[in-house]
Amino acid sequence: MNRDKSNALYDKAKNYIPGGVNSPVRAFGSVDKAPIFVDRADGAYIYDIDGNKYLDYISSWGPLIFGHNDPEMIETFKSSLEKGITYGVPSYIEVDMAQEIVKAYPACEMVRMVNSGTEATMSAIRTARGYTRKDKLIKFEGCYHGHSDCLLVKSGSGTLTFNAPTSLGVPEDVIKDTIVCTFNDIESVKSAINQNKDQIAAIIIEGVPGNMGVVPPCPDFLKQLRKLTKDEGILLILDEVITGFRIAYGGVSEVYGIEPDMVCFGKIIGGGLPVGAYGGKREIMQVVSPLGGVYQAGTLSGNPLAMHMGLKTLQRLRENPSIYSELEAKAIKLEQGFKKNLSDLGLNYTITRVKSMISFFFAEGEIANYQDVQKSDTDKYGEFFRFMLNKGILLPPAQFEGLFVNTAITDEELEYTIICHKEALKAIHNI
Ligand code: PMP
Repeated sequence: MNRDKSNALYDKAKNYIPGGVNSPVRAFGSVDKAPIFVDRADGAYIYDIDGNKYLDYISSWGPLIFGHNDPEMIETFKSSLEKGITYGVPSYIEVDMAQEIVKAYPACEMVRMVNSGTEATMSAIRTARGYTRKDKLIKFEGCYHGHSDCLLVKSGSGTLTFNAPTSLGVPEDVIKDTIVCTFNDIESVKSAINQNKDQIAAIIIEGVPGNMGVVPPCPDFLKQLRKLTKDEGILLILDEVITGFRIAYGGVSEVYGIEPDMVCFGKIIGGGLPVGAYGGKREIMQVVSPLGGVYQAGTLSGNPLAMHMGLKTLQRLRENPSIYSELEAKAIKLEQGFKKNLSDLGLNYTITRVKSMISFFFAEGEIANYQDVQKSDTDKYGEFFRFMLNKGILLPPAQFEGLFVNTAITDEELEYTIICHKEALKAIHNI
């Protein structure tokens, strides 16, 4: 597959943009010499500037639940555009959007729109601290909540791939109140709480982590966490930026039957436009400005284009709940196909899946936390990624990310993916 134009553009991009990209994992740095540069996308496919076509399992990292250029979404975008791009004063669509989210998510009685998942988690934490008048915060190793200072401690996604567990430029003082526990290990949380009695404002968690690959929560872990936080007067913040409206309409909260005190959304709720949201119990959200003393604002927050696209997405998902079983069926098909390939070839790599979230690790045995994930052979993942790319399949360009399926991917395309997976494994292992 010829990628001369992408390679040349990468050289040019590096002159103007740090690393040539606007978000680190896009550089393909852990898996290839250069990224592809996209010309356009349609349905289940992305087309690069060399004219190559790739089946897209990134789906813009989650937002594109209906694939690229879905006709209803394009229509929604066009009609919204005709009404103006941004107003800076309230618009009806912001209220409709807030109502849709509140109705979808019982724990979210009030919601504030922001422009990214990073802003959502950062603002939720400020709100939790303002409400509880406490400073300390617990997060879990390998969970990523965006790049705000106090959350950039032992996080996942690109920070794992590029081996920067804590970023330069984050003052020690800012992270001194961030305590890191082990996912799926309730004892680690109990001991952190005991050592910081009455000082912890909140625990933030990806209920189903997707940023160290997909790591399924143990059956009782989230329930135990909910009980513990309630007993100790600590707010539980569910980061549903990936999982919200993806693993079910009501996200992790619905699937695992837990009601957090606060929740963060992003990705799907913007239908592909930049968006985030944080919300929670009315009593908590009432501390947010202009009602209360926690300041948080945004020039483009509640942007009408993003609200129309997001609302349309949520309405379609609510009206067509079978989408969730369809998406899960696609992930199950991949899971079963990959598992069969592995067993046919006598390999024991682990595939993890929760609903439609799926990832394959070049590691054996149980994957329950960050330590387990670290066993992965990232070089093998790189070989695998390159083989698949040359077969016209675009996977996440890093071992520590899950695949995002969307409704545009057909059974035939899944079958092709499974065939290529087997060929790739054979090639990598000289079988
Ligand atoms: N939380 C989670 C769980 C995420 O996966 C991400 C981004 N992948 C974020 C927060 C940050 O969102 P954004 O990139 O929109 O700032």
